[in-house]
Amino acid sequence: MKHVPVGVALLLISSLALAQVKSPEQFLGYKLGSRFTPHYNIVNYCKHVAEAAPNMVKLEQYGTTNEGRPLLLLYVALPENLSRLEAIRQNNLRLAGMIADKAPPDEKGPAIIWLSYNVHGNETSSSEAAMLTLYELVNPSNTKTKEWLQHTVIIIDPCINPDGRDRYVSWFNSVVGQQPNPQPFTREHSEPWPGGRPNHYYFDLNRDWAWQTQIETQQRLVKYNQWLPQVHVDYHEQSYNSPYYFAPAAEPYHEVISNWQREFQTTIGKNNAKYFDQNGWLFFTKERFDLFYPSYGDTYPLYKGAIGMTYEQGGHGRSGAAVINHDGDTLTLWDRLYHHFTTGMSTIEAASQNAGRLVQEFKKYYDKARTSPPGEFKAYVIKADEGNKMARLKQLLTRNCIDWYIGGTATYTGVNYFTGKPGPVKTDDQDIVINANQPNANLLKVLFERNSRLTDSITYDITAWSVPFAYGLTTYGLNTYVTGLLKNEPEMVNNSPVHALNTDNTSVAWLVRWNGLNSVQFLSAIMQHKVKVRFAEQPFMAGNASFEKGTLIITRTSNQSLGNSLADIITTAARKAGVAFTAVSSTFVDKGFDFGSEKVHAMQTPKIGLLAGDGVSSLSMGEVWHFFDKEIGYPVNIIWSDDLTKNTLRELDVLIMPDGNYRFLADKMMNEALKDWVSGGGRIIALEAAVAQLGAADWGIKAKKTDDEKSDKSGKSDDKKDDYSMLHRYENRERDFIPAFIPGAIYKVELDNSHPLAFGYGDAYYTLKQDNTIYEFFKEGGWNVGILKKDNQVEGFVGSKLKDKLKDGLLFGVQDMGRGEVIYLADDPLFRSFWENGKLLFSNAVFMVGQ
Ligand SMILES: [Zn+2]
Repeated sequence: MKHVPVGVALLLISSLALAQVKSPEQFLGYKLGSRFTPHYNIVNYCKHVAEAAPNMVKLEQYGTTNEGRPLLLLYVALPENLSRLEAIRQNNLRLAGMIADKAPPDEKGPAIIWLSYNVHGNETSSSEAAMLTLYELVNPSNTKTKEWLQHTVIIIDPCINPDGRDRYVSWFNSVVGQQPNPQPFTREHSEPWPGGRPNHYYFDLNRDWAWQTQIETQQRLVKYNQWLPQVHVDYHEQSYNSPYYFAPAAEPYHEVISNWQREFQTTIGKNNAKYFDQNGWLFFTKERFDLFYPSYGDTYPLYKGAIGMTYEQGGHGRSGAAVINHDGDTLTLWDRLYHHFTTGMSTIEAASQNAGRLVQEFKKYYDKARTSPPGEFKAYVIKADEGNKMARLKQLLTRNCIDWYIGGTATYTGVNYFTGKPGPVKTDDQDIVINANQPNANLLKVLFERNSRLTDSITYDITAWSVPFAYGLTTYGLNTYVTGLLKNEPEMVNNSPVHALNTDNTSVAWLVRWNGLNSVQFLSAIMQHKVKVRFAEQPFMAGNASFEKGTLIITRTSNQSLGNSLADIITTAARKAGVAFTAVSSTFVDKGFDFGSEKVHAMQTPKIGLLAGDGVSSLSMGEVWHFFDKEIGYPVNIIWSDDLTKNTLRELDVLIMPDGNYRFLADKMMNEALKDWVSGGGRIIALEAAVAQLGAADWGIKAKKTDDEKSDKSGKSDDKKDDYSMLHRYENRERDFIPAFIPGAIYKVELDNSHPLAFGYGDAYYTLKQDNTIYEFFKEGGWNVGILKKDNQVEGFVGSKLKDKLKDGLLFGVQDMGRGEVIYLADDPLFRSFWENGKLLFSNAVFMVGQ
């Protein structure tokens, strides 16, 4: 060996290393597809490949899940590319104009392909496919993949949602016998609530890309935006009776998607089809999965210049490890993973063959974004709020790499989003300005567009998400770019200064404004330290400053038991939440009610129950759970809805009923017990469908019916319509339901902000309306806090039949019942946790109403 030339020695070493790479079967000890692989073993296999082929694979842990599982990326490349991985990454960002330096980018590539597996935890075949894909990319005897790697770098995320995956896999492995049972009616085909699809807090991670409310997304998107691949595939599974789905996607396509992005989806789709035809596997394209809502694993990459695609295998939780489908065929886990493996290989092949073009078009996409951005406006001015919504918006922009600038003192002319009217707008340093001519112009346009243009109204998701409305921040669209601005410094949430720090013994009370999520975080913290808090029902003046309704008042007298630690508790909580407080030396107020008045209410520290389990929407319940646990840090008792009893109710002050179907309301005894509990001082917060069910169970709220619905019920025919207009063509069966369809549109809700449910708001709130339900006004015994008047739709698609119905009715109301209240929130104020402006409304329901 001594005299072997260096080059040959290196070759020997590298081929020796490669020879040691084990296939998944060799490593795991079973044939892929014969059982489900728990996440820790997927991790072990990835580590093995990275260790056995260090010149071709680099493994990186980019994060950790809520339950402590590692999140991984594998970079796979030929040795000559792997050794200059960082240079390739930087060159790619230079192509996008994300790195401003003089060096011109190299336009030869390689193209970067990012494959994301198992975002939905119970769509389990894809992580199994990820292992096979990884293996075949490095397998020395697979010469084809080495050819493709000459023009590509592959990034593999083997499992985006390990907590969900393991929830499914642990459960399945606990109920399967020696052989899987393919009968779809058996236990192993029916997952228990909430199923493995979502993450730990029951969030759908494939609705979270842009908003990044979940830690999996937050950590992953840091890496994604550092790489910006040219091709991204998001692997899924759908009903086991469906053939495989791959690109091109269905209409509607968002208007910012370029011709090249459309065209190349078809190129890849045709390549996939070639392999499917060779094997006699069925597939479909151009149907069902559209490209519109910006938070998916296909659309977000598209709005970042990639060819973003969703691939769907028939399978998921209901198919177990084998299932007999409608054709009488048995679909196995192996079939499922092998189809996913095949499209992965085919996608890499198609991308490799067109790598040069992919890179050039990617550069063009970003060049165009910077020089002629899409959209109605050239710049946006966003006015700061008094709370911390602006801080949260800055965080959202920064996380998405959208450049923003500090406002400075200036006057512009722009269109006000809330009024739709042009006018002058003055800015100061608290406000921000965003110019549209920047690398992320497309995503910016999509997030801020006033009206998303649908090329077709059948869509899979909501059609309105405009950030100014979701955040409730006054925004102006400008027709010119703004120059000479100061660039932002990345800011964190909760960075407001703590004012009037006065903790000496002369302070008799401390005041904190109630105007945002940070006020709620502060309240949560001090309540848990047993601080007694009051709030003002009316505005007041104290210490030469004015304070709005809902202002929190902490008096020394009510908190004697805490002694000198009171000031410390307040200071610490205020710092942590980022709220300003004012210390005053008298409880006498200059204007308004003194702190001893009955218009200043003592707040109870509520013991909260949250219903979960069969019948309850896990998404809705998860939003509430996440809100208490992660956003405001307040204890919540989660109760199976079937376990709710009189005795349980006695332990609670507030009962939250998320969207769902509640069987106990049909039980007369339980229904009465619940009413007794409310009358005795309990409080119910009912969300979405829970409102309708309380209405149906005669709790006092009534769903509003249109004239059509009334006559349908009475069986009378409407003489205005002729008989022929009632006939429907078979081929139009999907389209015929559009007039009665509302996929999620924004409405302006008028508020009675003198009611505690609307404290901290002006006279309007913008709601995401996702169903056609609206309620009759309370005439007595209740408060109409949030109502729809006429013509208040602002954005999104609403079917023509519903336009007439969605007006003159109640959406947010409070019913008085004995000493308690029922709070009805017909729309979801916590939607996917990105509807920032709803969080205070929900907090009011929890902490303010009924005190
Ligand atoms: Zn899925």
